[in-house]
Amino acid sequence: MTAFLRIPLSDESVEALPLPDIIVDCLDNLEGRIALTAYASRYDVPLVHAAVQGFSGQLTTFIPQRSACPLCALSGETSKNNAPIPSLGTCVSAMASIQATEAIKLITETGTPAAGKMLFFNLLTNEYEALNLEIDPACIACSDHQGRAR
Ligand SMILES: [Zn+2]
Repeated sequence: MTAFLRIPLSDESVEALPLPDIIVDCLDNLEGRIALTAYASRYDVPLVHAAVQGFSGQLTTFIPQRSACPLCALSGETSKNNAPIPSLGTCVSAMASIQATEAIKLITETGTPAAGKMLFFNLLTNEYEALNLEIDPACIACSDHQGRAR
């Protein structure tokens, strides 16, 4: 089932979603990202995350109980700035394509998902990097649910 939510995500509104097999985010604000990641963690649903700014993008796949979530790397540092983030359409479509590929890999149990890694793409300079992500036991999104028995 595919669900598109066109209202601001919050802890309350995300609970109205039908339980999915996989979540692929495309959010433009931190509050929604925290709510959706906490939902994924709470219900043990894999989440493929990507974000875009200008010519740059980042991507990771969060598998609850097994890998760091996209917000573990923040170490509690959050910005209240919800100003629109400029992004290049071609960069958005490149990141969306990689997100869709991650979802296909999870559905078909093929390949290696980008779990535990944050992939960074700079399409302006052609620099690509993969950093290891560690689970933050005090993470603002997943710490209440990491380590829960399956
Ligand atoms: Zn986390």
